Amino acid sequence: MSELPVFRYHPDPVGTGSIEATEDTCEFCDLPRGWRYTANIYAEEEFETVCPWCIADGPSPCTTHP
Ligand SMILES: [Zn+2]
Repeated sequence: MSELPVFRYHPDPVGTGSIEATEDTCEFCDLPRGWRYTANIYAEEEFETVCPWCIADGPSPCTTHP
């Protein structure tokens, strides 16, 4: 499980329930991060599993972050 990124507006995302542990793979970066973002995702499509890194990288999830 990777260490979580820092969210400027979510100092405690796990505590508030915005992020939860999962064994699913992120639908954006295709990596098994160990975490998924559960809060509303502003995208045209609905996604089941998006990792916090894709969210933290900005409004447009990228596929190139490490
Ligand atoms: Zn991701």
